[in-house]
Amino acid sequence: MTRPVLAFSALALLAALAPGAGATDEPTPASAAGDPAQADGSAAEGAGPGAATATGAGAAGPREDRAAPGEREDASRRDGRTGAPSATRHRDDGRPPGHGGGEPAARPRAADRLAAPARRPLALSAAVGPAARARALTTADTLAAHAARIQRRVAAYHRWGLQPPPPRPAPPVVKPRVRGATVVRRVPTDDRVVFLTIDDGARKSPEFLRMVDDLDIPVTSFLADDEAVLGPGYGYFRRLEILGGTVQNHTLTHPYLPALSYREQRREICGQQDRIQKEMGGPQPRLFRPPYGAYDRDTLRAARACGLDAVVLWGMEAWADRIDFQEPGADLYPGAVILTHYRGPASWGDGGTMADMLRGVLEAAAEQGYAVGRLEDYL
Ligand SMILES: [Zn+2]
Repeated sequence: MTRPVLAFSALALLAALAPGAGATDEPTPASAAGDPAQADGSAAEGAGPGAATATGAGAAGPREDRAAPGEREDASRRDGRTGAPSATRHRDDGRPPGHGGGEPAARPRAADRLAAPARRPLALSAAVGPAARARALTTADTLAAHAARIQRRVAAYHRWGLQPPPPRPAPPVVKPRVRGATVVRRVPTDDRVVFLTIDDGARKSPEFLRMVDDLDIPVTSFLADDEAVLGPGYGYFRRLEILGGTVQNHTLTHPYLPALSYREQRREICGQQDRIQKEMGGPQPRLFRPPYGAYDRDTLRAARACGLDAVVLWGMEAWADRIDFQEPGADLYPGAVILTHYRGPASWGDGGTMADMLRGVLEAAAEQGYAVGRLEDYL
């Protein structure tokens, strides 16, 4: 009987705390948002999906509990970097202590007694002990952060003209064991999650960076050094990494590896391990993708010698205007690895952009009920 009660409490707390809760009886401060029409629309639309997802979170039990702390860090990190988006500001600005309008009489009194910040006016019974009260406040903070994060995310998707895909599932606690250059075509998981991997690194679209930032998309970049150094160079990928992306190995000069000797292959692969470590800092990459997906026994031996755990291939390729599946007519599936490339309008061939490519992937994901996961959380 514990879980239904908890779920109900979570719902009640969410109803009281969700940033959109006051939207109907309080006018939105348009000046806070820049574009009043968009801000109003986002807030109104955000309340529905956000509330629905949060309901799922309350009922989901241990799985979502694992996810909550990470998401809170995520949310606070994002707040620190980008400033609080409009939904959060509405909540903070729109709820002075004891603001009254249509609220139950007990709520302001409880808020005064607890001297709680205005954004969490909890109606706690006097019979609740300090420990339970502290627990309730912690739970309330977690749920409020979760709800705020969902609302920001929904609003951002709408700004880009997209329906949000389902929330990213919590990554596995124990990852499948990949060591010694294991070849991976499909990530072993039953979660409805797909992975976006982008190769080479020649073209570096600022719009794509903004989109990845707004929509919180984890991107794995397999970089070939002679392409990654072009233009703004590795600095572009360092910015992507700050946004949750990762950089992995795609050789120094993008050769057709089976045509090379073992020593030459090893130089290509180990050389790029060193380059990435020098440019990106931190430990060396763990994942390798051979150019053209072409490899032989020497490639795997060299990748092992260079310390790589997995050789990651793919199951479909995203373009600016379509997704090509390896089996025609196929759909996304759990653990699908999507390949695409850092291209510009000229190299896509149809004038499309990186943003168009990402939009196509996210539309397919939302339609078919998949989230975009972080590859390194699963391998
Ligand atoms: Zn490539």
